[in-house]
Amino acid sequence: MLDIQKIRADFPILSQKVNGKSLVYFDNGATSQKPQVVIDAISKYYQEINANIHRGVHTLSQLATDAYEESRVKMQNHINAKFSHEVLFTSGTTFGINLVANGFASILKAGDEVIVSALEHHSNIVPWQMLCEKTGATLKVIPMNDKGELIMAEYDQLLSDKTKIVTVNHISNALGTINPIKYMIDKAHEVGAAILIDGAQAVPHLKPDVQALDCDFYVFSGHKMCGPTGTGILYGKEAWLNKLPPYQGGGEMIKEVTFEKTTYAELPHKFEAGTPNIAGGIVLGTAIDYMNSIGFENIQKQELELLEYGTQRLLEIEGLKIIGTANEKTSVISFNIEGIHPYDIGTIIDKLGIAVRTGHHCTQPIMNFFCIPGTIRASFAFYNTKEEIDLMVEAVKRAKTMLS
Ligand code: PMP
Repeated sequence: MLDIQKIRADFPILSQKVNGKSLVYFDNGATSQKPQVVIDAISKYYQEINANIHRGVHTLSQLATDAYEESRVKMQNHINAKFSHEVLFTSGTTFGINLVANGFASILKAGDEVIVSALEHHSNIVPWQMLCEKTGATLKVIPMNDKGELIMAEYDQLLSDKTKIVTVNHISNALGTINPIKYMIDKAHEVGAAILIDGAQAVPHLKPDVQALDCDFYVFSGHKMCGPTGTGILYGKEAWLNKLPPYQGGGEMIKEVTFEKTTYAELPHKFEAGTPNIAGGIVLGTAIDYMNSIGFENIQKQELELLEYGTQRLLEIEGLKIIGTANEKTSVISFNIEGIHPYDIGTIIDKLGIAVRTGHHCTQPIMNFFCIPGTIRASFAFYNTKEEIDLMVEAVKRAKTMLS
């Protein structure tokens, strides 16, 4: 059983007042809050070991390099990758997806197919559209049902020997749907296609095992899992990372440069051109340690309770409709109130200290599917409480009365 009050004390921002009210932070899907250990680790890096990595023989450079590479191994262990060189530091999920999509430009040809799903964030749609435009490949979309679940029978139909890569999120940011990715990975492999999993919304809630999943790529952002912004991980199977061309050219990613020809460095450096976000990469390791000290089983238990309680409490409100009612869901509740624009509710409850996300959540195709302009999204983290849900429900009721 988690001691939530003790955990909340780790997050200085949570005791802040916003608009004169105690902050209720339910926008964790956009970014999570940061515990003091993470905030401190950033200062400590700059105060004690700041130096460029992989370059110098001097002591600080070696300390910084060691800390950066230790963090890579921490991430490797966390996701159970076979090799640490399969774990690339990136600036986030968007960067990781673009890196892979860009690499596939050298593999795809006209007539090949890329499969995405109807549940994707724009960052897992647009890079693939750009890839298709560049190569003449065709984008196919796995449809969903009214509950916001992908239809697996349709996915099976879309797969063929033309499919070169499938790309799907582990968990939907807009609706919270948990996709059956193990099934989808195995099916993609049956037709010889690669598969990328966008784990941006999964890693704050669970610990992925990339070897058990057998996915080819798994990408995520650090800032949604208690880490700093501008950090992320792209896991890729060694064979795939060796096959893909580098994404950016520059320092650190080369073996030898002459004006006639450049040869590239070994993994992971081939994909890490230029000075990286050194502090960020190191502190991502601190964030993972923090989350593991809470324990993902405990996190899931707490979040599931919040999901159940929040769903039940919100449904007390007349005219409130939850969008996304998948059987397998994480702690995200997207909802609308009949006749009221989501922005109006969001703006009023912000005045009452409640931070939720309103709008299309970078998933316009999902909003189009449900014929709505957007939703109000409450996304809970392990440091949230039922009392906070009560405050949100009261605030939404007040906003509804004011706007009706
Ligand atoms: N995919 C999903 C499912 C997301 O929720 C997000 C962030 N909202 C992204 C991709 C993009 O992540 P980032 O902005 O950190 O690159």
